[in-house]
Amino acid sequence: MMDTEDATRLAHACSRVRALEAMPLEEGEDVALLPQCWWSTCASAFEDASQSEDAVRDAVRGLEMIDMCALMHDGDGDGDTEVCVRGAGSWATRARDGLRERVDYAIVKRETFERLVDVVGMTDGSKAIIRTSVSIAGTILVEVYGERFSIHFGELEPKTIELSRAASARELLDACRDAYGEALRDAQDSDLRVVDYYSEARGELLTTDLTKKLDALHLVPNQALLVERKVGEYWPEEQSFIALPAGDDDMVNAYDADSLEIDVSLTPKNDVSTCQAAAKVGTRGKAGLSNLGNTCFMNSALQCLSHSSLLTEYFLSDKYLTDINTDNPIGMGGELATEYANLTGALWRDGALTVTPRKFKSSLARFAPQFSGYSQQDAQELLAFLLDGLHEDLNRVKKKPYVEERDSHGRTDADIADESWEAHTARNNSCIVDTFQGQYRSTLVCPTCGNKSVKFDPFMYLSIPLPTSRERMIKVTLVTYGEHVSAVTFGLKVPKTGDIATLTLALCEIADIDTMYERIVMLEVYNHRIDKVFTNMNMSLSLISDRDVLYAHRLPALSDTAPTMDTVLVHRRSGSQTKSPYAQVSSVPGTVVKFGFPWIVPVSSAEGETPGAKHAEFLERTVEKYAETYMRPAPGTPHSPSASAEPDERRPSAEPDARLFKLKYTNHNASATFEEYGSEASVSDSHVSSNTLSAMHVIAIDWSSKALTNTYDEDLFDVTVEHSSVKTNEISEAEQGTPLTSCIETFTQEEPLGKDDMWYCKQCETHVEALKKLDLYRLPPILVMHLKRFNYSRLWRDKISTLVDFPLANLDMTPYVLPHAPRTEAPIYDLYAVVNHFGSMGGGHYTAYTQHAEEGTWHLYDDSHCTPVDPEAALHNAAAYVLFYKRRDVPITRPMSRAGSLMNFMNADTGMGE
Ligand SMILES: [Zn+2]
Repeated sequence: MMDTEDATRLAHACSRVRALEAMPLEEGEDVALLPQCWWSTCASAFEDASQSEDAVRDAVRGLEMIDMCALMHDGDGDGDTEVCVRGAGSWATRARDGLRERVDYAIVKRETFERLVDVVGMTDGSKAIIRTSVSIAGTILVEVYGERFSIHFGELEPKTIELSRAASARELLDACRDAYGEALRDAQDSDLRVVDYYSEARGELLTTDLTKKLDALHLVPNQALLVERKVGEYWPEEQSFIALPAGDDDMVNAYDADSLEIDVSLTPKNDVSTCQAAAKVGTRGKAGLSNLGNTCFMNSALQCLSHSSLLTEYFLSDKYLTDINTDNPIGMGGELATEYANLTGALWRDGALTVTPRKFKSSLARFAPQFSGYSQQDAQELLAFLLDGLHEDLNRVKKKPYVEERDSHGRTDADIADESWEAHTARNNSCIVDTFQGQYRSTLVCPTCGNKSVKFDPFMYLSIPLPTSRERMIKVTLVTYGEHVSAVTFGLKVPKTGDIATLTLALCEIADIDTMYERIVMLEVYNHRIDKVFTNMNMSLSLISDRDVLYAHRLPALSDTAPTMDTVLVHRRSGSQTKSPYAQVSSVPGTVVKFGFPWIVPVSSAEGETPGAKHAEFLERTVEKYAETYMRPAPGTPHSPSASAEPDERRPSAEPDARLFKLKYTNHNASATFEEYGSEASVSDSHVSSNTLSAMHVIAIDWSSKALTNTYDEDLFDVTVEHSSVKTNEISEAEQGTPLTSCIETFTQEEPLGKDDMWYCKQCETHVEALKKLDLYRLPPILVMHLKRFNYSRLWRDKISTLVDFPLANLDMTPYVLPHAPRTEAPIYDLYAVVNHFGSMGGGHYTAYTQHAEEGTWHLYDDSHCTPVDPEAALHNAAAYVLFYKRRDVPITRPMSRAGSLMNFMNADTGMGE
């Protein structure tokens, strides 16, 4: 909380910050990361508080100091690898791995950050995370993380390097040289080169042109690179052919020369893994796509397109070659279409097991730079851009004629529709239009005078709204301290628009807590420590994601007479002790590992008193009492685990310090170890005040390995009991299934345009909130339906996890098509592909279900894996996100061969109503 003077200064900063953030980011400009939660509160305060300084002052008063710790790289726990950083960006302060923009952090101008810090301050231990924006493929981007690669040189240990994607091949070469220090220091540029070593197969030479940008080298994060040094006249490769995977080459050539006649020469050889034996079994169209780093969104969309037989046939038959439009200024000169064709060829090659879409991804990124990084994206957005890009590259119209829009007044629908479709196809004529595009009528009505505007627009896919649940379930584990510690997880049903106060209230109700006598401390636990304490009761619940782990500690109400300091106790043990024989990672000796969930013990102390030996004693007694819950059964009892059956011989039998645990001062994330708690030296020490969890301070309980081997069961420290409300509320969420048809009905329902989207009524001569209605008119051979699972708002995205009941076959669209629409074929559709999205927006995982175009069987594609599934059983889940339906008159299964007759079909019928 800030005082009035600070609030006044912040109110002054407000207008400057607003102006700064309204300006576009420029190349080379410095930006800073802010915790999203903090920034949302700040931004909405600035926004709500119109212009008045008083209003801003009131709105920002609740702002706390900026705590960057959750965004900073911990360095604790995961054995940190040494990384050689180099390139255009600067990564002086590393960000914690896996952070997501607009979920975990917001990007603001450096000056904004500095002004805010100037007023509200930063918590101790917080560091600014500054990045310099770079230009990649014509787009200004902020690289929160650099790209990492693992480099190999001869027999030496592999190294990790990190570079900006804006770095050049020259910088790549230098980074490799730096990483190997002594070994390569005296190597001339001409004697050194870097080779693509994806999947441990030698690929392209990367350093032939040192000015080339990393982005154009088709590399993927964390992939391997080979560093080679010339010895005398020769490169190592020329001296010894043994190192080359020679067998692979033969095989690729054999397939290239096969009757398929697919040109895959542009696909690097190490991008297609094949299996000779599998070729005979029939693997066509069952190849997986490697994940290049969060690219499952792309892989799932590509598998669905690849199983769109009309499109795949068109590419496999080379028919696309005659359509390639090299002159289209908004196309890619045919590059995207060519790379897509190569990818399709690779996916449908006999014997292909896995295909790595590196070149394709590069081309797509050049067309739509938002896909140039390796962060999770929206599969539907990618699909929309890809279809657009392919369309422009394959547009048979070389010179788009100018078409004047005519007033629709007084003419029949059929007239307007046909005219508008003709105008559209005069400018847009491609396989993509033939296959995916339809047309709908959009009617706007003035609610005041009834004035009507009718337009017919083409569409590539339908965005179908889903009924939103106004409530969500948030899991909170309530920790109660009595004789023992108990932890019960509740499933709390709360309004989505609620705040922390709503959540706390819901918990108090279900757990019967009277806040007169008790208080609830709501917090987020991450890596066995407290990450965030929710002190702002007005914080919106939308800032809490489903993956956040919430705990509520039930503590005695504060009293005015005895000031209380809440002491957070974090359980730790020595990292050298392996927890279980199955542990995959053995910890580095000397490190500490956290376990269990943190406890909070309120310690009351007289005014001005600092914690000392007295408190230490009290805490020790408390810890001993609480820990009884987690005692192992006494040795000798039948169910006793073999705890002391095999004494650890490395440990001396008589330890100098036989205590079960020690209390230690530590930092806010409990990664550091300072003096023993309560020791004289620390009474005046700054560690106490260096804690950042508002009024709390953090103490580590360092359990001895003996205590955890003999007396306590470490696993029990984490055990929580699930309250029945979790199951009950989960089931009720899952049961809210909605038929697809009712979602389509909603799509065609009249609804008012919002206040942000006013329509100018010519008759009323003013902007009105018009009523908008969509009706389907022409339906394409392939109907793509996008279920609008994601709500985008100014500050966050929200996912609707409603189960949609969609038919696998026989979806009759007749009721949703205008009655007077021309019709040659009945609009009956069968499902053949689905993109699934699991988890929350921004994170999560994508997979695809598709029906094999040749065999009619269904498969699950999960990146590189392809597994047969039973469609009836597998497809009905709440993950379905994009549905691909094909019209009944489109042949279902047809061999996808060069001489396929699908093409003839497509040319004969280019859509309904023709
Ligand atoms: Zn009007």
